Amino acid sequence: MKFVDKLADRISEGTRTLSQKTDEIIEITELKFDMRNIEKEIKEIKLAMGEMIYEYFISTENNMPLNQIKEKCREIQRLEKELNRMKSYVYKAKGLNYCHYCGEMVDHEEKYCSICGHKVIK
Ligand SMILES: [Zn+2]
Repeated sequence: MKFVDKLADRISEGTRTLSQKTDEIIEITELKFDMRNIEKEIKEIKLAMGEMIYEYFISTENNMPLNQIKEKCREIQRLEKELNRMKSYVYKAKGLNYCHYCGEMVDHEEKYCSICGHKVIK
């Protein structure tokens, strides 16, 4: 192979990895944005749930809206799961992992969380 061809090959190879990296960075930025929105959504559901409970507390005739509360809890659970999935993707791209129990960022090599001591899921 001619030197020029080799060089061209190497350059296109370099460009390819660079654009892959750029795609990854854009993807992670978008994910982080989505994650913040999900966190906000979780807070809003918790707030609505709190208001529901307080309304029950001050009313004299209402029954505890247990089914509605459970429904909201399930919604939070679903969102938390989604959030964790996104988190592990972002951390993996950074060579990091996180504790599924307390959410602390841990090194990929680490077997146990340095904060809560729980086993880290790979
Ligand atoms: Zn932990």
